[in-house]
Amino acid sequence: MIPSLDMADVLSRARAAFLGVAVGDALGATTEYLMPEEIRRLHGVHDRIVGGGWLHLAPGQVTDDTEMSLCIARAVIDAGGWDLPGIADRFARWMKGKPVDLGATCRRGIRDYLLKGQLETPPNEWDAGNGAAMRMVPVALCTLGDEERMARLAVAQARITHNHPLSDAACAGLGRMVQRAILGASRAQLRAAAEELCARTPAFRFEPYRGEASGYVGDTVRTVFHHFFGTGNFRDCLVATVNQGGDADTTGAIAGMIAGAHYGRKGIPERWLRRLDRRVRDEVEAAAGRLVALSPAAGNDPEGRNGAV
Ligand code: MN
Ligand code: MN
Repeated sequence: MIPSLDMADVLSRARAAFLGVAVGDALGATTEYLMPEEIRRLHGVHDRIVGGGWLHLAPGQVTDDTEMSLCIARAVIDAGGWDLPGIADRFARWMKGKPVDLGATCRRGIRDYLLKGQLETPPNEWDAGNGAAMRMVPVALCTLGDEERMARLAVAQARITHNHPLSDAACAGLGRMVQRAILGASRAQLRAAAEELCARTPAFRFEPYRGEASGYVGDTVRTVFHHFFGTGNFRDCLVATVNQGGDADTTGAIAGMIAGAHYGRKGIPERWLRRLDRRVRDEVEAAAGRLVALSPAAGNDPEGRNGAV
């Protein structure tokens, strides 16, 4: 246990990081694949969870970003610690359930796990998508307090489906930002962490930003950083992000994880939380607490079998 930690504050931020993924996913799915001009024409400023979009979602319904995050969370919670085969099994079960959305890279990785039992997909130049980065919250939570372990497990979970240096860097970099925000880092400290990441990985440099919001993880991280550092609260950050269109549910989910971790549970607009699929809302909140309980920040070893759930 980190002695100076206010665990109530940590838990609020941890819950908000996971809720942020679901809220950003549900909000952004409406504008996924649209251009900013099309969004303006159809919605003015899109700032309500109304469903629809190309997937024809119900209001408050979430997609693969939240569902794959929940697969990881369930596997780790059920095992009482890190369980990579358990995570792959959950992905496989989820895929067999015909999810509302599933990216091509994730589908290939999960299929190869099913056919060959392969937990690491071979390196592939096309794997620089954001599909592994979008599901980082449960990894950041169960390793809270140990950034090295987080980075290692971030890459392990990523490579079930994505094996590319840029995806790896995004997973570890976003995980680090989420952990530091949960542990109370200031905005200036988060900015420094983002700039350090951009110095190591220039594809993430977010100034100047030209509105590129695709599923390429470089674009995704740039979009999220640009809007997180360009706004001053959870709502404005998410609204700016999803009105950029492109891969809006995923940029929304990733903006939501960082903004949630930074602004905490009270920063998330109540009307968005009320609109969110209730089962999802309840499960992510409960899971966040159980994952933090397994973490080094709570005095536990997520890779040991301490059963400290
Ligand atoms: Mn999605
Ligand atoms: Mn997406």
